[in-house]
Amino acid sequence: MRRPTNVPYHTLHMPPTLIARYSEITLKGRNRSQFEKQLADNAALHLKPHGIYKVKRGRAQLRVECEGDPELGAAILRGLPGVVNVSIVHMVPRELEPLTQAVLEFVAGWLAGLGTSGERRISFKVAASRKDKRYPLSSMDLAAHLGAEILGRFDGLKVDLTHPEFTVWVEIWERSAALFGEKIAGPGGLAVGSSAKMLCLLSGGIDSPVAAYMMMTRGAPVVFLHFHSFPFIGEQSKEKIHDLVRFLSRYQPHGRLYVAPFAKTQEAIRDYCPPGPRIVLYRRMMNRVADRIAAKEGAQAIVTGEALGQVASQTLENIRVIEDAAESTVLRPLIGMGKQQIITIARQIGTYPISIRPFQDCCTLFQAKNPETRSRLDRVQKWESRLPVDDLVAECVDGAEMTDYGADYYPAEWE
Ligand code: ATP
Ligand code: MG
Repeated sequence: MRRPTNVPYHTLHMPPTLIARYSEITLKGRNRSQFEKQLADNAALHLKPHGIYKVKRGRAQLRVECEGDPELGAAILRGLPGVVNVSIVHMVPRELEPLTQAVLEFVAGWLAGLGTSGERRISFKVAASRKDKRYPLSSMDLAAHLGAEILGRFDGLKVDLTHPEFTVWVEIWERSAALFGEKIAGPGGLAVGSSAKMLCLLSGGIDSPVAAYMMMTRGAPVVFLHFHSFPFIGEQSKEKIHDLVRFLSRYQPHGRLYVAPFAKTQEAIRDYCPPGPRIVLYRRMMNRVADRIAAKEGAQAIVTGEALGQVASQTLENIRVIEDAAESTVLRPLIGMGKQQIITIARQIGTYPISIRPFQDCCTLFQAKNPETRSRLDRVQKWESRLPVDDLVAECVDGAEMTDYGADYYPAEWE
């Protein structure tokens, strides 16, 4: 999804504008203006640390005037939930004569960036559209005119309307024309903040960061909770969790992480309960702590990375027994997905390289060789009655360390 070419913007004199489009289909009335405002606010927050970008609301799109790096601005915007696609646009005169000149300059810049040897003919098309229907030429006539001018000026080009290597997009607006070469796909969905807050149980694995991301694209701001079993598990494994939350804050304006100390709870379960149901007991305790932190945060649901049948703890029987300990609604966006599908998304959103760094999750501590796959609520409750549940929960909640990450994190290695 990287820009295929390097169009030298200076040839068109003015700093480019960024256009971020969103889908209108589901947006009506008041919802629409709230959504627009949310997306505009998010865009401004994400762009602010990286230069001067002025965000304005247009019709079904945000327009961002940038004095900062347009490529960087576009890369940030195309990651934001709610954004369908992004273009780096040159605003040029819409009158035919100067518009044609600008288009020729644009194509010249593109060809220069390509550094062609001229041996092969390169295919292109002009895609013209009119936002202002009063424009004297029809879209088809305008495209035909500009296409002919381009062919007349440059050698080695040919028109291909179905699979062009390069598209010159021309949109006629009220006062000017927008000229661009690309629509860079974003995730679509809803702007973060359009839905209620959620609390994600974040392990260091591949699944839970993907689950969090999916809820972000449905508009939910996500707070994170990780359980850490120091000293059984090294301090350095926390670094990975922090890196995941910091990384995911490229998709939401604010990322908060709680790291709860889980060692005492796990020791108690080890000492008072048999190995078979331990993992289910751990996860039930996690849900109780999550309820408390969700209440504190005003989060309306718990999100997990569970996928049916993926591991022993994730049979439907176990999932039900684990859920029983939670008062909150538990959402599992990955429940019907296979591991490969989840990995594909993890790669797309960039969490995969962090997730596969070696680490041990606390769930594997003191684990049975053959964990129970069909736990029964009455039996699990019987084991649990031996534990000082409230004290253990309080210890996790009170001992949790909280860290905030702003939207300003943007690593250079955007993939
Ligand atoms: P993941 O890839 O997210 O680690 P998993 O396939 O390894 O998931 P489990 O280890 O059974 O599955 O965990 C199921 C879910 O429980 C995780 O997706 C996560 O939401 C939650 N979870 C597991 N371990 C932790 C932890 N240490 N802290 C917070 N949540 C956890
Ligand atoms: Mg895991």
